[in-house]
Amino acid sequence: MTKRLLFIALTISIATGLFAQEAKFDRSVKFKENFEAAIPHPEQDRIVSQKLAELEERTGKKPNILLLVADDVGYGDFGAYGGGAQIGAATPNIDQIATEGLKLTAAYSQHTCTPTRATILTGRLPVRSGLTRPILAGDNITKNPWEGELSSAELLSEAGYHTMLVGKWHLGEPTGMRPHDVGFDEFYGYYPAQKEISQGYDPRRYPDLIYNEDRYAAFEGIKPDDHLIHGFKGGETNKLDQVTSTEDMGRADQVLVDFTISKIKELAKGDKPFFIDHCFMKAHADNFDNPDYPGLSASKYPYKNSIAEIDKHVGDIYKALEEAGILENTLILITSDNGPQMDSWPDSGYTPFRGAKGTTWEGGVRIPAIFYWKGMIAPRESAELFDLTDVFGLTLRLAGVDQNSLPSDKYYDYVDQTSFILHDEGESNRETVYFWWGTELMACRMKEYKIHVKVIQEQSTHMYIDKSLIQDVGLAPWLFNLYIDPKEEIPVGHRRNAWLATMGAKLKQHAATFRKYPPKDVGLGN
Ligand code: CA
Repeated sequence: MTKRLLFIALTISIATGLFAQEAKFDRSVKFKENFEAAIPHPEQDRIVSQKLAELEERTGKKPNILLLVADDVGYGDFGAYGGGAQIGAATPNIDQIATEGLKLTAAYSQHTCTPTRATILTGRLPVRSGLTRPILAGDNITKNPWEGELSSAELLSEAGYHTMLVGKWHLGEPTGMRPHDVGFDEFYGYYPAQKEISQGYDPRRYPDLIYNEDRYAAFEGIKPDDHLIHGFKGGETNKLDQVTSTEDMGRADQVLVDFTISKIKELAKGDKPFFIDHCFMKAHADNFDNPDYPGLSASKYPYKNSIAEIDKHVGDIYKALEEAGILENTLILITSDNGPQMDSWPDSGYTPFRGAKGTTWEGGVRIPAIFYWKGMIAPRESAELFDLTDVFGLTLRLAGVDQNSLPSDKYYDYVDQTSFILHDEGESNRETVYFWWGTELMACRMKEYKIHVKVIQEQSTHMYIDKSLIQDVGLAPWLFNLYIDPKEEIPVGHRRNAWLATMGAKLKQHAATFRKYPPKDVGLGN
């Protein structure tokens, strides 16, 4: 990064005349030293605070929050984002919710599962929490990454919510790292991604493991727990049914959705608001049809059937909220934790952008994000910036948790986007999105511009994880204008001094936060 920063510093000095205008380019303001700078929108914020207060007066309680997080679903998979029926898997329920809600077209995740899931719950970039990549079977973690972290689940639980994680966790399996150890009142789901479970039961794909007794015995020693787990904060952790076949794996999401729906019905009658983080097992490779309704999509391919199945589940969950009479008091977010995994093609999603899961190209990190809240969110679409770290601030604000009370010894990367989401014509409060790959600062987006100081280069078609390189760029950072070049193919060049200077300064400011707030290393090979 040093060479890049030197170049940027040089560009800044060349563009000194533009320095005076920098305030215009960069609209964000630092409210607190350990918080990400945000674009102030006092009037928008005032209106939204009033809207929330009026709702609370009507309902007598804080709003429910329901996150529906799909796994490895691409930006272009849902019909609302240009996919759906035309690519063989119609998503009528999700599309309807998108039409009636807020559809974001510039929402960002991290490049893989674990980092994104960590940001949603901590409001901090993975490089700060140490959760920089998925924890896999056989990994030797040197330190509990959750030690010293404060999750939104914990804060909401303290604020009187029933907090629950249903489905895939992927943020640590040992005691101290499980959902019900890090703030959730209840956990009902699986610790790993579905491939880590199904590889033990899929002889077509893993015959060299399954048909070899010694190897299988060794695998059993390191494989993640493949039971459905029901755990309670400060209480029991029960192992329920074990997945012992690909058919069981195919049925897993139905089991999870049945549970979420039964809890919605139960909790709707109680006094406590709920925070449910429902994380689908699908559509992470390897995908298996639910044997009770095989071939659900027009395409008939397993990945596509998983997309159709997710849509069916979203429809059923929506119906449950409607029947329980709590749609007006429940914020719903439908999203994905990263771009499509292309290495597993054709068990893969679709993105119109360059790159895929595992990269910081748009294809890896730009994800669908639909907010829905009956009566509180006007139907609209926005191309302004949102990062899934911002979900942390949104959940805190809705629950009435004082963000000023967050620890001052930690750096927070989220921006409070509540007013952007809930105002009828809300503008984003986020000026920049930073893209990391492990402990490497890769890129930054500001308005329609994105600069890369490092890039992931695939060495074969679709091989973004299994055959790729991380590389420094040359003398100039690669600067793309995403409005005229959404596929990041043709850099607009180093002559764009104004943007290079401004974004270079932002990158430097961002990098500088790590001096006072150093990153955490938990032994994930960084
Ligand atoms: Ca994922």
